[in-house]
Amino acid sequence: MPAKTDIGPPYFKDFMSDLVKKNYGQWLYHEIEKPGVMVHVAESGDKLWSVRVGGARLICTDRVRDYCELADEFCGGHFRFTSRHNVEFLVEDQAKLQPLIDKLTAKGYPIGGTGCSITSIVHTQGWVHCHTPATDASGVVKSVMDELIDYFKGMKLPAQLRIALACCLNMCGAVHCSDIAILGMHRLPPKVDPEKVPKMCEVPSTIGSCPTAAIKPDPKTKSVKVNGERCMYCGNCYTMCPAMPLADSENDGISLWVGGKVSSARTAPRFSKLAVPYLPNNPPRWPETVEAIKNIVEKYAAGAKRYERVGDWIERIGWEKFFEVTGIEFTDKHIDDFGEAGSYGITTLRRTTMFKFTSHIK
Ligand code: SF4
Ligand code: SF4
Repeated sequence: MPAKTDIGPPYFKDFMSDLVKKNYGQWLYHEIEKPGVMVHVAESGDKLWSVRVGGARLICTDRVRDYCELADEFCGGHFRFTSRHNVEFLVEDQAKLQPLIDKLTAKGYPIGGTGCSITSIVHTQGWVHCHTPATDASGVVKSVMDELIDYFKGMKLPAQLRIALACCLNMCGAVHCSDIAILGMHRLPPKVDPEKVPKMCEVPSTIGSCPTAAIKPDPKTKSVKVNGERCMYCGNCYTMCPAMPLADSENDGISLWVGGKVSSARTAPRFSKLAVPYLPNNPPRWPETVEAIKNIVEKYAAGAKRYERVGDWIERIGWEKFFEVTGIEFTDKHIDDFGEAGSYGITTLRRTTMFKFTSHIK
């Protein structure tokens, strides 16, 4: 017997049911029978139903135990977590499908997140765990999904709508390529404590940690100085030197980005673009952020054609029209002029006076 270690992940096939192992790589197609319920059909004729339940990234052991008990009762002990923190109960016996759905419903677990819906928001660590966030992650996500839960339970949108949150621009979440992205924004450079820097930090490596060369030595204080014009608020220096905190309870907040996607269906993948430059951090329910996202979702739902993702819809009607229908103010913050615009902004800065007039486009 090979020795068991805790190094690396265990072999994934050890966790599959016999039916899934038997049909591995031989699934013919899948269908969504109703919101949150899918059936996969194999070449052998075997069928596997998945019941998708809205989950959360941070859950307690009681919740995991509950999932396990449900899986033991209805799924031969098998369920899985999706990359968006949902739970999928894998049912092999069709007779157990409706009883499982009834029990999940009775327990208040939302079923959905398939097809033209809003599935759970993929997100980062936030105030719970990371040291550079400009906003919380779980708290914002919970507030937004509470408002949008009907879009999770039903498939009434023109296409899939994927929301992501990253609590700073280092972006451990998929905010660069989501239909709607929630991004924490720092708005001031790190505050240097010249008393503590020489005692706590290694000055050369702190200077070397800055990707934009914004940090210079300050020989007078044996500390460092930050050039705010060059700083992009990444927090890398704070990782190296705890005497340079970036978090600022007054100025940190949230920006919203729209129109990104990973899928290459119908149109090419694309990056998200800035829609709302700043919304205040307003815990515990972030009402401004929730309202702004709901507004974009509702305007998209009303205006997009079947299977148009948010970015496809905006490209068709034009960005000028997008700002008009959503009522979002277009400001100088929407123009990418960061630092050396000649190098950073050259691919994104719009350099034409031509506007696309869209009033004739339906
Ligand atoms: S996005 Fe930034 S603040 Fe959030 S977990 Fe990642 S590095 Fe930390
Ligand atoms: S926050 Fe980032 S860009 Fe700003 S000084 Fe620190 S390392 Fe440099």
